[in-house]
Amino acid sequence: MRKLSMALLAGVALVGCGGPEASEKAPMSWEEFRASAINDEGDVFVVNGDEAVEGEQGLREYYDAFVANGDVGSSEGSLAVYYLSGRDVKYSATQARNLTYCISSSSFGTRYSTMVSAMNSAAAAWEATANVNFIHSSSYDSSCTASQTGVFFDVRMVSGQSYTARAFFPNSSRSARNVLVDSSAFGNMGAWTLTGVLRHELGHVLGFRHEHTRLSSTGCYEDANWRGLTNYDSYSVMHYPQCRGSQTGDLVLTSMDKTGARALYP
Ligand SMILES: [Zn+2]
Repeated sequence: MRKLSMALLAGVALVGCGGPEASEKAPMSWEEFRASAINDEGDVFVVNGDEAVEGEQGLREYYDAFVANGDVGSSEGSLAVYYLSGRDVKYSATQARNLTYCISSSSFGTRYSTMVSAMNSAAAAWEATANVNFIHSSSYDSSCTASQTGVFFDVRMVSGQSYTARAFFPNSSRSARNVLVDSSAFGNMGAWTLTGVLRHELGHVLGFRHEHTRLSSTGCYEDANWRGLTNYDSYSVMHYPQCRGSQTGDLVLTSMDKTGARALYP
């Protein structure tokens, strides 16, 4: 999630959502797009606020797909799954039941136990409705890095980032499969809780795109690489509030989010 969202919740007017969306405007040039992407740790770039793509090549591919599909996507059918080259970007049934992760005890420090329970709660929300299983492999917490192959993904704390947290999609390689949580997520986030932010991030981990990319009228259109699982839902856990979203409280799964998640992981 982007930090901008909190400003809106605090009553501050915002203009747009940043990132590569370009509704009703001429497409950004590659140079402009490249300059707008945030180079995160390792070889990862952050686009659309909190989504990771890998390397300059990945960024270029994302840009090319975005420009090629620069027209506005259809709102026909709350949840939208990442969709590339005619295929859903999702896990096999087996992998979906074995999403192991570690939580870096050294990076979270005194916030470690808070983080463990927030991840448990956020994971439980998706597990309660879809056939997915997140497993905390705590034996790796003391060596929880981007190169830890004992887990499917790592959860670490960072600081001074433009995002509150960022995640990855099912097609990411191990080094990019991180959920990074900025230290600001442990401060006052208005209506949002840490668990709420993680519910949104784990939605990306499962393959769900930002709901606000489905309509140009949100002002936050990103690209057309998605497939609707249900009708558009302005209350979706995957919808940024500042993009004409309807959710003013914490980020929670709506009944349409649950229906969509079950449809993808029955
Ligand atoms: Zn997001």
